[in-house]
Amino acid sequence: MSDSVDAVDSVREQAVVGAVPTGVFIGGGWRDATGGARLVVEDPSTGRPLAEVADATPDDGLAALDAAAAAQASWASTPPRVRGEVLRRTYELLTARVEDLALLMTLEMGKPVAESRAEVAYAAEFFRWFAEEAVRIDGRYTVNPNGGARLLVMRQPVGPCLLITPWNFPMAMGTRKLGPAIAAGCTMVCKPAELTPLSMLALAEILAEAGLPPGVLNVVTTSRAGDVTRPLLADRRLRKLSFTGSTAVGRQLIGLAADNVLRVSMELGGNAPFLVFEDADLEAAVEGAVIAKMRNVGEACTAANRFHVHESVADEFATRLAGRLGAMTVGRGTQEGVQVGPLVDGRQRAKVAELVDDATARGATALLGGRPLDGPGYFYAPTVLTDVPAGARMLREEVFGPVAPIVPFATEDEAVAAANDTEYGLVAYVYTTGLERALRVVERLETGMVGLNQGLVSNPAAPFGGVKHSGFGREGGREGIDEYLATKYVAVKLA
Ligand code: NAD
Repeated sequence: MSDSVDAVDSVREQAVVGAVPTGVFIGGGWRDATGGARLVVEDPSTGRPLAEVADATPDDGLAALDAAAAAQASWASTPPRVRGEVLRRTYELLTARVEDLALLMTLEMGKPVAESRAEVAYAAEFFRWFAEEAVRIDGRYTVNPNGGARLLVMRQPVGPCLLITPWNFPMAMGTRKLGPAIAAGCTMVCKPAELTPLSMLALAEILAEAGLPPGVLNVVTTSRAGDVTRPLLADRRLRKLSFTGSTAVGRQLIGLAADNVLRVSMELGGNAPFLVFEDADLEAAVEGAVIAKMRNVGEACTAANRFHVHESVADEFATRLAGRLGAMTVGRGTQEGVQVGPLVDGRQRAKVAELVDDATARGATALLGGRPLDGPGYFYAPTVLTDVPAGARMLREEVFGPVAPIVPFATEDEAVAAANDTEYGLVAYVYTTGLERALRVVERLETGMVGLNQGLVSNPAAPFGGVKHSGFGREGGREGIDEYLATKYVAVKLA
């Protein structure tokens, strides 16, 4: 029985993977990388090869920029309604094909298929949102204060963009950039992460089917990210870089972008504190903690990285959280009912193990888990750690795995100071039923976003982004399209 089910699954899996174009997408056509090199994509639940895609060279990257630059003028002058309709049609196609796209995403990235469905829906929503924003790009007309002239302010597309995306949300981290760029009238070269290129390739094909003209979006997959993107960053035709990924790589790219004075948006790493005050609804806090910690197998920039819990409720919170995490089903993300998939690769799992070992060596206690799981694939046990000392690396570094360290605090000041004691500033979560406390704490947190009595902040209608070393610029919301628009002011003489 189970063998025949597996066989059926594998036929469907092969069909879904086999349907994805695997070349570079340049000027509306698919072709091999120059020299024909291929890059292997793995299934993280087995460690086995899943597919091969083109391994682009620097020449391919420049050809992609040639195509983007050639398409820029006509795309910028395409009516906003037409640009918006391409996004709207793509939203509808993504929604209609959610099952296949979700399976594809789970196969290359590992997360449970229910979460992949949610990501495809979330990714598609950015297109629906920016389809609506495309027709609302406005400017202004004002009278000079001295009455003698008129001021005209218009907003125009910034021009060709380089968009670099990470592996943890293989589609949504792309559509958050593609949606506003397309709406604003920019052309693009997109470089998806080498671990998860398939979702972006599938998306490019769907955008073309929805009517995106050749050259507006170009996609290069490569194992040599730095070599392929550096010449683009130095090229005068490029006008903007939008990057989502680690702070270490983001920092290097800001330096390269500075030489060419590029517009830059940076969505970088996080170290989200999750604060639970003594007046919190503890059940709601545990529920929010499960979402903030376990969504995406903990591999999210928004993942709760450390739990600061008032000392009067810390033990009970830890016990309840361990109960919930311990009851989660770990397995291959393609199986219905699985709630925790593998980590994306061996490197990522080794990093999680290293951080847990560091904390336990310093005196932390594993109330749950605390080790990698045996067998094929890159699985790590859901883990709750108590007695985590202040020096533990996981309180400062992104864990990116299913690990919840719990640290008690005594006062509100202490909680806020601990929350802000990090180079990062992406998101924080706060659980309290006190209105005054909520406002006091939210105002003092040094982050771009706060989840107030809520374990999830991602929303296409909201401005997503960080402060400090979590980056700058906003994706989504009314702000998202501003990143792709340049302001032009015209001084009009009026006698
Ligand atoms: P990463 O920085 O290693 O890679 C991100 C992307 O940059 C990939 O496409 C990679 O190929 C490319 N890249 C790597 N080196 C490069 C170079 N020298 N030049 C040009 N491109 C290069 O990050 P990752 O491991 O793929 O993703 C995880 C990180 O992303 C985490 O730190 C996470 O917090 C962050 N992230 C942030 C957000 C956000 O919105 N703030 C969202 C998701 C992920």
